[in-house]
Amino acid sequence: MQRRQLLVAGGALCAARPGHALDFAPPRAPARMRADIDRIIDIAVGIRPFRAQGPRIEAQRLHGKTVVHHYGHGGSGWSLSWGSAQRALALVQASGAQPGQRIAVIGCGAIGLTTARTAQQAGYKVRLYAKDRPPRVHSSAATGLWTPDSRIVTSEHASEVWSAGWEAMARASFKMHQSYLGLPSGPVEWHDGYVVADEGFDTPLPRHAGEPDYPDIASRIADLRPRGAALAAGEHPFAKPHVRRFTQLVFNIPAYQRLLLDDFARDGGEIVQRELLSPRDFARLPERLVVNCAGDGARKLLGDNSLTPVRGQTARLIPQPEVDYALIYRAHNLVVLPRRDGLLVAAMGEDDFGNDDLRPDRAQSEAAVQRLAGLF
Ligand SMILES: Cc1cc2nc3c(=O)[nH]c(=O)nc-3n(C[C@H](O)[C@H](O)[C@H](O)COP(=O)(O)OP(=O)(O)OC[C@H]3O[C@@H](n4cnc5c(N)ncnc54)[C@H](O)[C@@H]3O)c2cc1C
Repeated sequence: MQRRQLLVAGGALCAARPGHALDFAPPRAPARMRADIDRIIDIAVGIRPFRAQGPRIEAQRLHGKTVVHHYGHGGSGWSLSWGSAQRALALVQASGAQPGQRIAVIGCGAIGLTTARTAQQAGYKVRLYAKDRPPRVHSSAATGLWTPDSRIVTSEHASEVWSAGWEAMARASFKMHQSYLGLPSGPVEWHDGYVVADEGFDTPLPRHAGEPDYPDIASRIADLRPRGAALAAGEHPFAKPHVRRFTQLVFNIPAYQRLLLDDFARDGGEIVQRELLSPRDFARLPERLVVNCAGDGARKLLGDNSLTPVRGQTARLIPQPEVDYALIYRAHNLVVLPRRDGLLVAAMGEDDFGNDDLRPDRAQSEAAVQRLAGLF
Protein backbone atom coordinates (compact mmCIF):
# COMPACT_ATOMS: atom_id res chain seq x y z
CA MET A 1 0.00 0.00 0.00
CA GLN A 2 1.23 3.53 -0.84
CA ARG A 3 2.11 5.77 2.13
CA ARG A 4 -0.70 8.22 1.27
CA GLN A 5 -3.26 5.43 1.06
CA LEU A 6 -2.10 4.08 4.41
CA LEU A 7 -2.44 7.46 6.07
CA VAL A 8 -5.91 8.06 4.72
CA ALA A 9 -7.01 4.56 5.71
CA GLY A 10 -5.72 5.26 9.24
CA GLY A 11 -7.89 8.36 9.39
CA ALA A 12 -4.79 10.43 10.01
CA LEU A 13 -5.01 13.03 7.30
CA CYS A 14 -4.49 16.43 8.93
CA ALA A 15 -6.03 19.69 7.81
CA ALA A 16 -3.88 21.94 5.64
CA ARG A 17 -2.76 25.22 7.22
CA PRO A 18 -2.74 28.27 4.99
CA GLY A 19 0.67 28.73 3.43
CA HIS A 20 1.88 25.26 4.43
CA ALA A 21 2.03 21.97 2.63
CA LEU A 22 -0.40 19.30 3.86
CA ASP A 23 0.73 17.91 7.22
CA PHE A 24 0.48 14.18 7.85
CA ALA A 25 0.38 12.65 11.28
CA PRO A 26 1.64 9.08 11.65
CA PRO A 27 -1.20 6.50 11.48
CA ARG A 28 -2.64 5.89 14.92
CA ALA A 29 -3.37 2.33 15.99
CA PRO A 30 -6.80 1.93 17.65
CA ALA A 31 -6.42 2.14 21.43
CA ARG A 32 -6.65 -1.26 23.09
CA MET A 33 -9.90 -2.01 24.88
CA ARG A 34 -9.26 -2.99 28.52
CA ALA A 35 -11.31 -6.17 28.50
CA ASP A 36 -11.08 -7.25 32.15
CA ILE A 37 -14.05 -8.66 34.01
CA ASP A 38 -13.16 -6.59 37.09
CA ARG A 39 -13.86 -3.46 35.00
CA ILE A 40 -17.59 -4.37 34.68
CA ILE A 41 -19.50 -1.54 36.39
CA ASP A 42 -23.05 -2.41 35.42
CA ILE A 43 -25.13 -5.15 33.81
CA ALA A 44 -28.53 -4.27 32.34
CA VAL A 45 -31.22 -6.60 31.02
CA GLY A 46 -34.01 -5.47 28.72
CA ILE A 47 -36.76 -6.94 26.56
CA ARG A 48 -37.08 -6.28 22.84
CA PRO A 49 -40.81 -6.18 21.95
CA PHE A 50 -40.80 -8.22 18.75
CA ARG A 51 -43.78 -8.68 16.41
CA ALA A 52 -43.55 -10.93 13.36
CA GLN A 53 -45.80 -8.45 11.48
CA GLY A 54 -43.65 -5.44 12.42
CA PRO A 55 -44.61 -2.65 14.83
CA ARG A 56 -48.29 -2.11 15.54
CA ILE A 57 -49.10 1.45 14.45
CA GLU A 58 -52.87 1.70 14.22
CA ALA A 59 -55.80 3.56 15.72
CA GLN A 60 -58.59 1.80 17.60
CA ARG A 61 -61.78 2.96 19.32
CA LEU A 62 -61.60 1.55 22.82
CA HIS A 63 -64.07 2.31 25.63
CA GLY A 64 -65.05 5.62 24.03
CA LYS A 65 -61.49 6.79 23.38
CA THR A 66 -59.29 6.84 20.33
CA VAL A 67 -56.18 4.84 21.15
CA VAL A 68 -53.29 4.97 18.70
CA HIS A 69 -51.23 1.86 19.31
CA HIS A 70 -47.53 2.35 18.75
CA TYR A 71 -45.47 -0.58 19.97
CA GLY A 72 -43.56 -3.68 18.89
CA HIS A 73 -40.27 -2.30 17.56
CA GLY A 74 -38.14 -5.37 18.32
CA GLY A 75 -34.41 -4.60 18.22
CA SER A 76 -34.90 -1.39 16.22
CA GLY A 77 -36.75 0.94 18.58
CA TRP A 78 -34.07 3.59 18.97
CA SER A 79 -33.12 3.49 15.31
CA LEU A 80 -36.65 3.73 13.89
CA SER A 81 -38.15 5.87 16.65
CA TRP A 82 -38.53 9.25 14.94
CA GLY A 83 -39.84 7.91 11.64
CA SER A 84 -42.24 5.61 13.46
CA ALA A 85 -43.42 8.51 15.64
CA GLN A 86 -44.29 10.46 12.49
CA ARG A 87 -46.55 7.59 11.41
CA ALA A 88 -48.24 7.57 14.80
CA LEU A 89 -48.63 11.36 14.64
CA ALA A 90 -50.42 11.06 11.29
CA LEU A 91 -53.00 8.84 13.02
CA VAL A 92 -53.36 11.35 15.86
CA GLN A 93 -54.02 14.09 13.32
CA ALA A 94 -56.41 11.89 11.32
CA SER A 95 -58.46 11.29 14.49
CA GLY A 96 -59.42 14.96 14.50
CA ALA A 97 -57.30 15.91 17.53
CA GLN A 98 -56.37 19.57 17.10
CA PRO A 99 -53.02 21.25 17.87
CA GLY A 100 -53.28 22.91 21.24
CA GLN A 101 -55.30 19.97 22.59
CA ARG A 102 -53.69 17.80 25.27
CA ILE A 103 -53.11 14.16 24.39
CA ALA A 104 -51.85 11.28 26.53
CA VAL A 105 -48.85 9.14 25.69
CA ILE A 106 -48.39 5.89 27.60
CA GLY A 107 -44.74 4.92 28.11
CA CYS A 108 -41.46 6.63 28.63
CA GLY A 109 -39.12 4.42 26.60
CA ALA A 110 -37.53 5.29 23.25
CA ILE A 111 -40.90 5.16 21.49
CA GLY A 112 -42.93 7.06 24.10
CA LEU A 113 -40.35 9.86 24.43
CA THR A 114 -39.87 10.38 20.69
CA THR A 115 -43.64 10.17 20.10
CA ALA A 116 -44.22 12.78 22.81
CA ARG A 117 -41.59 15.10 21.31
CA THR A 118 -42.97 14.63 17.80
CA ALA A 119 -46.49 15.48 19.02
CA GLN A 120 -45.20 18.54 20.89
CA GLN A 121 -43.43 19.74 17.76
CA ALA A 122 -46.75 19.41 15.92
CA GLY A 123 -48.37 21.72 18.49
CA TYR A 124 -50.02 19.22 20.88
CA LYS A 125 -49.77 19.42 24.66
CA VAL A 126 -48.61 16.07 25.99
CA ARG A 127 -48.96 14.26 29.28
CA LEU A 128 -46.92 11.08 29.63
CA TYR A 129 -48.18 8.25 31.80
CA ALA A 130 -45.63 5.57 32.60
CA LYS A 131 -45.16 2.75 35.04
CA ASP A 132 -41.41 3.39 34.94
CA ARG A 133 -39.16 6.05 33.51
CA PRO A 134 -35.49 5.97 32.45
CA PRO A 135 -33.25 4.33 33.46
CA ARG A 136 -35.78 1.69 34.54
CA VAL A 137 -37.23 1.10 31.06
CA HIS A 138 -36.16 -1.60 28.61
CA SER A 139 -34.92 1.07 26.21
CA SER A 140 -32.23 1.99 28.75
CA ALA A 141 -30.62 -1.45 28.34
CA ALA A 142 -30.16 -1.04 24.58
CA THR A 143 -26.81 -1.32 22.88
CA GLY A 144 -27.14 1.96 20.98
CA LEU A 145 -26.33 1.14 17.37
CA TRP A 146 -28.24 2.31 14.27
CA THR A 147 -29.96 -1.01 13.50
CA PRO A 148 -33.36 -0.19 11.95
CA ASP A 149 -33.66 -3.74 10.55
CA SER A 150 -32.95 -5.64 13.75
CA ARG A 151 -35.76 -8.08 14.66
CA ILE A 152 -38.33 -5.76 13.13
CA VAL A 153 -40.33 -8.18 10.94
CA THR A 154 -40.13 -11.74 9.63
CA SER A 155 -39.45 -12.61 5.98
CA GLU A 156 -43.00 -13.92 5.78
CA HIS A 157 -44.49 -10.48 6.53
CA ALA A 158 -41.97 -8.27 4.71
CA SER A 159 -44.09 -7.53 1.61
CA GLU A 160 -43.03 -4.79 -0.80
CA VAL A 161 -45.60 -2.42 0.71
CA TRP A 162 -44.41 -3.13 4.24
CA SER A 163 -40.75 -2.78 3.25
CA ALA A 164 -41.36 0.55 1.49
CA GLY A 165 -43.09 1.85 4.63
CA TRP A 166 -40.19 0.64 6.76
CA GLU A 167 -37.73 2.35 4.42
CA ALA A 168 -39.61 5.65 4.74
CA MET A 169 -39.55 5.36 8.55
CA ALA A 170 -35.85 4.51 8.57
CA ARG A 171 -34.96 7.46 6.33
CA ALA A 172 -37.06 9.94 8.32
CA SER A 173 -35.57 8.66 11.55
CA PHE A 174 -32.03 8.79 10.22
CA LYS A 175 -32.49 12.42 9.22
CA MET A 176 -33.76 13.36 12.66
CA HIS A 177 -30.89 11.57 14.44
CA GLN A 178 -28.45 13.72 12.46
CA SER A 179 -29.93 16.83 14.09
CA TYR A 180 -28.67 15.50 17.46
CA LEU A 181 -25.01 15.45 16.35
CA GLY A 182 -22.42 17.84 17.74
CA LEU A 183 -24.19 18.50 21.04
CA PRO A 184 -22.13 18.75 24.25
CA SER A 185 -23.57 15.60 25.85
CA GLY A 186 -23.10 13.64 22.61
CA PRO A 187 -26.48 11.88 22.36
CA VAL A 188 -25.68 10.79 18.80
CA GLU A 189 -22.22 10.27 17.31
CA TRP A 190 -20.64 8.65 14.30
CA HIS A 191 -17.89 6.13 15.03
CA ASP A 192 -15.69 3.88 12.97
CA GLY A 193 -15.80 0.22 13.86
CA TYR A 194 -14.32 -3.12 12.92
CA VAL A 195 -16.01 -6.42 12.20
CA VAL A 196 -13.58 -9.23 12.90
CA ALA A 197 -14.16 -12.85 11.87
CA ASP A 198 -12.54 -16.26 11.96
CA GLU A 199 -14.04 -17.17 8.60
CA GLY A 200 -14.65 -15.17 5.42
CA PHE A 201 -17.55 -12.70 5.36
CA ASP A 202 -19.38 -14.85 2.78
CA THR A 203 -19.91 -17.58 5.38
CA PRO A 204 -23.60 -17.52 6.44
CA LEU A 205 -24.28 -16.47 10.01
CA PRO A 206 -25.66 -19.14 12.35
CA ARG A 207 -29.28 -18.63 13.36
CA HIS A 208 -30.12 -18.33 17.07
CA ALA A 209 -32.35 -21.01 18.58
CA GLY A 210 -36.05 -20.54 17.87
CA GLU A 211 -35.62 -17.36 15.83
CA PRO A 212 -37.65 -16.86 12.64
CA ASP A 213 -36.21 -15.95 9.27
CA TYR A 214 -35.52 -12.22 8.87
CA PRO A 215 -35.54 -10.41 5.50
CA ASP A 216 -32.68 -8.43 3.96
CA ILE A 217 -34.22 -4.98 4.02
CA ALA A 218 -31.04 -3.12 4.99
CA SER A 219 -29.95 -3.10 1.34
CA ARG A 220 -32.77 -0.57 0.67
CA ILE A 221 -30.97 2.04 2.77
CA ALA A 222 -27.37 1.10 1.94
CA ASP A 223 -26.74 4.70 0.86
CA LEU A 224 -27.26 5.97 4.42
CA ARG A 225 -23.78 5.07 5.57
CA PRO A 226 -20.29 4.96 4.11
CA ARG A 227 -19.23 1.73 2.44
CA GLY A 228 -16.86 -0.33 4.59
CA ALA A 229 -13.46 -1.64 3.54
CA ALA A 230 -11.65 -4.93 4.03
CA LEU A 231 -8.38 -4.50 5.91
CA ALA A 232 -5.26 -6.59 5.27
CA ALA A 233 -3.07 -8.02 8.02
CA GLY A 234 -0.87 -5.18 9.29
CA GLU A 235 -3.64 -2.61 8.84
CA HIS A 236 -5.34 -3.52 12.12
CA PRO A 237 -4.30 -4.75 15.57
CA PHE A 238 -6.73 -7.68 15.89
CA ALA A 239 -5.78 -11.33 16.30
CA LYS A 240 -8.20 -12.46 13.56
CA PRO A 241 -7.70 -13.18 9.85
CA HIS A 242 -10.74 -11.33 8.46
CA VAL A 243 -11.37 -7.69 9.34
CA ARG A 244 -13.61 -5.04 7.78
CA ARG A 245 -13.87 -1.42 8.81
CA PHE A 246 -17.26 0.27 8.90
CA THR A 247 -18.66 3.62 10.04
CA GLN A 248 -21.87 3.71 12.02
CA LEU A 249 -24.23 5.86 14.03
CA VAL A 250 -24.03 5.30 17.79
CA PHE A 251 -26.55 6.45 20.40
CA ASN A 252 -25.25 7.39 23.85
CA ILE A 253 -28.48 6.18 25.39
CA PRO A 254 -28.35 7.92 28.83
CA ALA A 255 -27.49 11.28 27.24
CA TYR A 256 -30.16 10.83 24.56
CA GLN A 257 -32.84 9.95 27.12
CA ARG A 258 -31.93 12.89 29.36
CA LEU A 259 -32.02 15.31 26.48
CA LEU A 260 -35.41 14.05 25.33
CA LEU A 261 -36.78 14.30 28.88
CA ASP A 262 -35.37 17.83 29.29
CA ASP A 263 -36.75 18.99 25.94
CA PHE A 264 -40.10 17.43 26.77
CA ALA A 265 -40.30 19.27 30.12
CA ARG A 266 -39.07 22.56 28.61
CA ASP A 267 -41.96 22.44 26.14
CA GLY A 268 -44.47 22.03 28.96
CA GLY A 269 -44.66 18.21 29.02
CA GLU A 270 -45.78 16.48 32.22
CA ILE A 271 -45.00 12.98 33.44
CA VAL A 272 -47.37 11.04 35.67
CA GLN A 273 -46.14 7.81 37.21
CA ARG A 274 -49.01 5.36 36.73
CA GLU A 275 -49.49 1.75 35.66
CA LEU A 276 -52.52 1.04 33.48
CA LEU A 277 -53.88 -2.33 34.48
CA SER A 278 -56.42 -2.98 31.73
CA PRO A 279 -57.72 -1.34 28.52
CA ARG A 280 -60.51 0.20 30.65
CA ASP A 281 -57.84 2.41 32.23
CA PHE A 282 -57.48 4.24 28.89
CA ALA A 283 -61.04 5.47 29.41
CA ARG A 284 -60.21 6.75 32.91
CA LEU A 285 -57.59 9.18 31.59
CA PRO A 286 -58.84 12.77 31.15
CA GLU A 287 -57.32 13.07 27.65
CA ARG A 288 -59.56 12.08 24.75
CA LEU A 289 -56.75 10.71 22.64
CA VAL A 290 -54.17 8.22 23.91
CA VAL A 291 -51.03 6.99 22.15
CA ASN A 292 -50.09 3.62 23.56
CA CYS A 293 -46.27 3.21 23.57
CA ALA A 294 -46.09 0.51 26.25
CA GLY A 295 -43.55 -1.65 24.40
CA ASP A 296 -43.46 -5.17 25.81
CA GLY A 297 -45.92 -3.91 28.46
CA ALA A 298 -48.67 -4.20 25.82
CA ARG A 299 -48.51 -8.00 26.17
CA LYS A 300 -49.95 -7.75 29.68
CA LEU A 301 -51.98 -4.55 29.27
CA LEU A 302 -53.86 -5.68 26.13
CA GLY A 303 -53.22 -9.43 26.28
CA ASP A 304 -51.47 -9.00 22.92
CA ASN A 305 -49.95 -12.35 22.07
CA SER A 306 -48.55 -11.07 18.78
CA LEU A 307 -45.65 -9.75 20.88
CA THR A 308 -42.69 -12.02 21.55
CA PRO A 309 -40.25 -10.91 24.23
CA VAL A 310 -36.60 -11.15 23.22
CA ARG A 311 -34.24 -10.83 26.15
CA GLY A 312 -31.01 -8.87 25.81
CA GLN A 313 -28.20 -8.15 28.22
CA THR A 314 -25.59 -5.41 28.07
CA ALA A 315 -22.62 -4.83 30.37
CA ARG A 316 -20.62 -1.65 30.76
CA LEU A 317 -16.91 -1.53 31.42
CA ILE A 318 -15.30 1.58 32.97
CA PRO A 319 -15.31 4.30 30.29
CA GLN A 320 -12.22 4.52 28.10
CA PRO A 321 -12.42 7.90 26.34
CA GLU A 322 -9.34 7.00 24.26
CA VAL A 323 -11.32 4.15 22.62
CA ASP A 324 -13.30 5.66 19.76
CA TYR A 325 -14.21 2.61 17.69
CA ALA A 326 -16.83 -0.13 17.79
CA LEU A 327 -15.96 -3.81 17.54
CA ILE A 328 -18.08 -6.72 16.33
CA TYR A 329 -16.94 -10.35 16.50
CA ARG A 330 -18.92 -11.89 13.66
CA ALA A 331 -20.74 -15.14 14.37
CA HIS A 332 -19.56 -14.96 17.98
CA ASN A 333 -22.28 -12.87 19.43
CA LEU A 334 -20.25 -9.91 20.52
CA VAL A 335 -20.83 -6.20 19.91
CA VAL A 336 -18.80 -3.53 21.71
CA LEU A 337 -19.52 0.20 21.48
CA PRO A 338 -17.37 3.13 22.63
CA ARG A 339 -20.17 4.77 24.58
CA ARG A 340 -19.47 7.77 26.78
CA ASP A 341 -20.98 6.00 29.79
CA GLY A 342 -18.68 3.00 29.37
CA LEU A 343 -17.49 0.41 26.90
CA LEU A 344 -20.78 -1.28 26.13
CA VAL A 345 -20.48 -5.05 25.73
CA ALA A 346 -23.59 -6.72 24.28
CA ALA A 347 -23.98 -10.45 23.84
CA MET A 348 -26.92 -12.72 23.02
CA GLY A 349 -27.75 -15.74 25.13
CA GLU A 350 -28.70 -19.08 23.58
CA ASP A 351 -32.34 -18.89 24.61
CA ASP A 352 -33.19 -15.17 24.39
CA PHE A 353 -36.03 -15.50 21.88
CA GLY A 354 -39.31 -15.82 23.78
CA ASN A 355 -37.50 -15.17 27.04
CA ASP A 356 -38.58 -12.36 29.41
CA ASP A 357 -36.34 -13.24 32.33
CA LEU A 358 -35.01 -9.93 33.65
CA ARG A 359 -32.47 -11.40 36.04
CA PRO A 360 -28.90 -10.41 35.11
CA ASP A 361 -26.63 -13.33 34.20
CA ARG A 362 -23.15 -12.16 35.20
CA ALA A 363 -21.48 -15.28 33.79
CA GLN A 364 -22.87 -14.41 30.34
CA SER A 365 -21.35 -10.91 30.43
CA GLU A 366 -18.05 -12.17 31.83
CA ALA A 367 -17.81 -14.69 28.99
CA ALA A 368 -18.45 -11.88 26.50
CA VAL A 369 -15.69 -9.74 28.05
CA GLN A 370 -13.32 -12.71 27.88
CA ARG A 371 -14.17 -13.21 24.18
CA LEU A 372 -13.36 -9.55 23.69
CA ALA A 373 -9.98 -9.95 25.43
CA GLY A 374 -9.15 -12.71 22.97
CA LEU A 375 -9.49 -10.35 20.01
CA PHE A 376 -6.38 -8.32 20.84
C1 LIG B 1 -30.36 -5.51 24.99
C2 LIG B 1 -31.04 -4.66 23.97
C3 LIG B 1 -30.28 -4.06 22.97
C4 LIG B 1 -30.89 -3.22 22.03
N1 LIG B 1 -30.11 -2.57 21.13
C5 LIG B 1 -30.68 -1.70 20.25
C6 LIG B 1 -29.88 -0.95 19.37
O1 LIG B 1 -28.65 -1.03 19.39
N2 LIG B 1 -30.50 -0.12 18.49
C7 LIG B 1 -31.86 0.01 18.45
O2 LIG B 1 -32.37 0.76 17.63
N3 LIG B 1 -32.65 -0.68 19.31
C8 LIG B 1 -32.09 -1.53 20.20
N4 LIG B 1 -32.87 -2.24 21.06
C9 LIG B 1 -34.31 -2.19 20.92
C10 LIG B 1 -34.95 -1.02 21.57
O3 LIG B 1 -34.36 -0.76 22.81
C11 LIG B 1 -36.43 -1.36 21.70
O4 LIG B 1 -36.99 -1.46 20.43
C12 LIG B 1 -37.07 -0.26 22.51
O5 LIG B 1 -36.55 -0.35 23.82
C13 LIG B 1 -38.57 -0.34 22.58
O6 LIG B 1 -38.93 0.84 23.22
P1 LIG B 1 -40.35 1.08 23.80
O7 LIG B 1 -40.40 2.53 24.16
O8 LIG B 1 -41.36 0.54 22.88
O9 LIG B 1 -40.43 0.16 25.12
P2 LIG B 1 -39.86 0.32 26.58
O10 LIG B 1 -38.50 0.88 26.61
O11 LIG B 1 -40.07 -1.01 27.22
O12 LIG B 1 -40.80 1.39 27.27
C14 LIG B 1 -42.13 1.07 27.59
C15 LIG B 1 -42.70 2.13 28.50
O13 LIG B 1 -44.07 1.83 28.75
C16 LIG B 1 -44.29 1.76 30.14
N5 LIG B 1 -45.36 0.79 30.38
C17 LIG B 1 -45.40 -0.51 30.01
N6 LIG B 1 -46.55 -1.05 30.41
C18 LIG B 1 -47.27 -0.07 31.02
C19 LIG B 1 -48.53 -0.01 31.68
N7 LIG B 1 -49.31 -1.09 31.76
N8 LIG B 1 -48.92 1.16 32.23
C20 LIG B 1 -48.15 2.25 32.16
N9 LIG B 1 -46.92 2.25 31.59
C21 LIG B 1 -46.51 1.10 31.02
C22 LIG B 1 -42.96 1.36 30.73
O14 LIG B 1 -42.88 1.67 32.10
C23 LIG B 1 -42.03 2.21 29.86
O15 LIG B 1 -42.01 3.52 30.34
C24 LIG B 1 -32.29 -3.05 22.04
C25 LIG B 1 -33.05 -3.66 23.04
C26 LIG B 1 -32.44 -4.44 23.99
C27 LIG B 1 -33.28 -5.05 25.07
